[in-house]
Amino acid sequence: MTLFLRIVLALALLAQFAEPVTAATSNQRLVLVTLDGVRWQELFRGPDPVLTENSHYTHEDLKESVQKAWIEVPDRGAALMPFLHEMARTGGTLYGNRDKGECMKVVNDMWFSYPGYNEILTGRPDNRITSNDKIYNPNVTFLEWLNRQPGFKGQVTAFGTWDVFPYIINDKRSGVPVNAGLGNRFPTDTLTARLALQTLRKSKPRVLYIGMGDTDELAHVGNYEQYLAAANRADDFIRTIWETIEADPVMRGKTTLIVTTDHGRGEAADETWTEHSSKTYLEMYPTYLRDYTKTGIIGSDAIWFAAIGPGVKLGSPLASTKADAVGACATQSQIAASALTALGIDWRRFNPNAGMPLPQFGP
Ligand SMILES: [Zn+2]
Repeated sequence: MTLFLRIVLALALLAQFAEPVTAATSNQRLVLVTLDGVRWQELFRGPDPVLTENSHYTHEDLKESVQKAWIEVPDRGAALMPFLHEMARTGGTLYGNRDKGECMKVVNDMWFSYPGYNEILTGRPDNRITSNDKIYNPNVTFLEWLNRQPGFKGQVTAFGTWDVFPYIINDKRSGVPVNAGLGNRFPTDTLTARLALQTLRKSKPRVLYIGMGDTDELAHVGNYEQYLAAANRADDFIRTIWETIEADPVMRGKTTLIVTTDHGRGEAADETWTEHSSKTYLEMYPTYLRDYTKTGIIGSDAIWFAAIGPGVKLGSPLASTKADAVGACATQSQIAASALTALGIDWRRFNPNAGMPLPQFGP
């Protein structure tokens, strides 16, 4: 055999054993955005006319503008968060509209932020996490795992308004830079948005996580029109993120954008919209939200997600979610595997016990 033939044979053998898509060869990218405590009700139904009428929650002088902008319109949800709805119309997906029989929920039994972000980022609920305290996460997020994979090292970056994100992502151990809560960032997401956008434009990290927080803070203080305004601004920021990606030759066509939330809020048209927490949690602290100890804040486990980009593969068989669905419900624990699948990575390498990818990301 000639040397040439031997080389050809050797190369053919190598090709045979090469993995079809590995972290090193995949050139896919990801931007994950979370909007803290945005209810599916506002996203799909738009502002609640009852809460908009209630002077306790909506400032008298602003009622008319809220009504004109977001209530006296043909599609209230799309008027409030136009870009998330556009994602669904332009090849992406928007899921969690319970009025249409869609369902997505958290698996963790707490229904508040740290347990929710842990579930999103690790693909598993962890019942040891029962507070929002600044405790370094014992669990490895998919961001941390990616940051150790070839082709991703130093390519994973996080921004957040809430100052607990460095603990959730465990910046010390993970080596993932988490720019969060600096300089009393609350009460606005504007700095988070500006810094994240700057980094996306300049450094183009392969994986970018952005945690927006105004919606939850403004809901807790019972300011409905400002909660709505924060959701509207966040939607516009996500549009800017997507336009930036689409205008950049390095990122265009290779980046999947996923948007979701850490928890829902109370579902009744009363004061429960300002709150969220499970029965299990309220039983642990019976003095907190004492009127709801026996029930929890009903509906605050309901969530939603949106996605667009090459990782979204609609029309795939739905069978793959069965093992992880709670009833017929998609779960928050499926986001991590969905994100990794969008990056062209076998999520089982991260954690075979993580929730399976959502069916919108292919089999
Ligand atoms: Zn909250």
